[in-house]
Amino acid sequence: MKRIYSDNNVAMVWHVRNMLKAQDIDVEVRNDRLYTVVGEVPVTECMAEVWVVNPLCYRLAEQLIAEMRTGSGESLPDWECPGCGEHNEGSFALCWKCQHAYPGESC
Ligand SMILES: [Zn+2]
Repeated sequence: MKRIYSDNNVAMVWHVRNMLKAQDIDVEVRNDRLYTVVGEVPVTECMAEVWVVNPLCYRLAEQLIAEMRTGSGESLPDWECPGCGEHNEGSFALCWKCQHAYPGESC
């Protein structure tokens, strides 16, 4: 389990969760009901969180969230598809040509 996203806006956390679920990534939401105790515990502990169950899916999930935030994944390095050798931009979590996942990913 790895934490991929946290926000004190529970709606955003659920949006991220739904988006990742739609990509068949197993995720869990934590702390989504703790907002009622904000003020009694540190705010960082009140943040709702999205956790990726399978660490192998972490990079893919990270890319999807980066795309959601910026509309592109410019900070991510380009990569070469292990399936067909095609050059892919870093913003692609899957090969644009053959849909092969980023090397090492197996969701
Ligand atoms: Zn490919």
